[in-house]
Amino acid sequence: MIPYSTVQDASVALGRNLTWSETVWFDYSATKSNFYVYCHTILLLFLVFSLAPLPLVFVELTGWFDRYKIQPKVKYSFSDMFRCYKDVMQLFFIVVGTLQLVSYPSLQIVGIRIGLSLPSLMELVAQLVVYFLIEDYTNYWLHRLLHCKWGYEKIHRVHHEYTSPIGYASPYAHWAEVLILGIPTFLGPAIVPGHIMTWWLWITLRQIEAIETHSGYDFPWTLTKCIPFYGGAEYHDYHHYVGGQSQSNFASVFTYCDYIYGTDKKDEAEQKGGVKYD
Ligand SMILES: [Zn+2]
Ligand SMILES: [Zn+2]
Repeated sequence: MIPYSTVQDASVALGRNLTWSETVWFDYSATKSNFYVYCHTILLLFLVFSLAPLPLVFVELTGWFDRYKIQPKVKYSFSDMFRCYKDVMQLFFIVVGTLQLVSYPSLQIVGIRIGLSLPSLMELVAQLVVYFLIEDYTNYWLHRLLHCKWGYEKIHRVHHEYTSPIGYASPYAHWAEVLILGIPTFLGPAIVPGHIMTWWLWITLRQIEAIETHSGYDFPWTLTKCIPFYGGAEYHDYHHYVGGQSQSNFASVFTYCDYIYGTDKKDEAEQKGGVKYD
């Protein structure tokens, strides 16, 4: 809830006129409780998980882009992809839904703000860069840990059921993995707290990035190819292809951790019985 009753009161308190987006935000959120606003997170994630992989379903079913398919011998039917979506949604409502309800106090503790002012473009971009770097580094080590014998057999094996990933399989994992890998997502905003808008943009971009990484297609026109040290679909696809024995390509977004710690290998395919990676 914003502690001003009118736009004019808010302008006086801020010492300037509200921007257009701040006025829209004021009109929408001024009379709503902070908890109610925070609960929009689950709706947003539901929309991202449901809609963002949809174009990839079209791509897979039509076969029009097969020349970009990373593992062309593997094809998924509509029912295969729908089953994956159903499993992901089940996990989503049980684990992420519960987490959503209990995580509100931690949001308050770290100081993510909901009221005015909205973040400037500079603040937004700087925080997103920091969040991506912190997530990538932490995710690298947790993912690597999940590849130890116990972690793989008890938890991470579920995510690797898809040896040729598809968009809907990006959040497909054991419930414990969803919780464990939620830590790197939350760590950036906990260290450098921003506005809830930044939080929403962050989780949206992170999920869309994960969906692209699990797309199973290496499209030459994807904008992420312009980002230095960006891993991308082929990079992570290889990690899924090798599976449980994989000791490389652990990073979630960038490649620098794998490079620094010597795990950016691509010679494991031979260890998988000499199968060519295609
Ligand atoms: Zn893995
Ligand atoms: Zn994966």
